[in-house]
Amino acid sequence: MMSHLQYDRIRRSKQDAIFLLDSNVDTDTGHLSVNICGNSRNVYTVSLSRTRNEKFQWKCNCPDMLMHARKSGCVCKHVCFLIYKVANAHEPEALTTREPFPMDEITLNQFVARLENRTELPASVFDQGLALKFTDKNFSVGINAFLPSKDARIESATCPVCFDSIDDNLVTSCHMCPACKNLVHKTCMEKYAIHKNNQVSCIYCRSTAWMSLYSKQKQQKYMRL
Ligand SMILES: [Zn+2]
Ligand SMILES: [Zn+2]
Ligand SMILES: [Zn+2]
Repeated sequence: MMSHLQYDRIRRSKQDAIFLLDSNVDTDTGHLSVNICGNSRNVYTVSLSRTRNEKFQWKCNCPDMLMHARKSGCVCKHVCFLIYKVANAHEPEALTTREPFPMDEITLNQFVARLENRTELPASVFDQGLALKFTDKNFSVGINAFLPSKDARIESATCPVCFDSIDDNLVTSCHMCPACKNLVHKTCMEKYAIHKNNQVSCIYCRSTAWMSLYSKQKQQKYMRL
């Protein structure tokens, strides 16, 4: 059965002002990542990927998903927003905690199509002005240059700061050096930048490209629109 905690998040996803900003599909892995603007005007990244046993897995970098929602076996309201307001899925009668939102291929294809044709979605779901603001802000920070790309060096799969292994959910957990394509945990590189008083260069190749990222971001965890 659907828990009241999950039901509450679905209800909030319908009431709150949450907007779709943009989306990205990795054509090789099918990994989908979507930027959304939450009720607080913070930008969050939601991702949908498949696990080794072909199950769909939702992630979101918002505080609720990182702390409370996952612990109680539910997904945050941002994921609910994508499922019910963007994908237009029917609310299921019952949800299991193991796989909160099973999506079949038809729903997934419909979802991707709706993401791609987002300008045709209702203004309560896609706000053109907000999306443009996001694109401008994203570009000025230059953060796109630090998103892991297909040629990222995944084989050296440990973080040079904490020496832990690099999570397979690269887009939300890691930054990639634009110069040498090596990966570092976002949070580790941020701590390193603070430690170096933003005079930060790549741990691998000493590229100073990183300085532009941290000097403009001013240590904010989330972009605000
Ligand atoms: Zn979320
Ligand atoms: Zn690390
Ligand atoms: Zn580098």
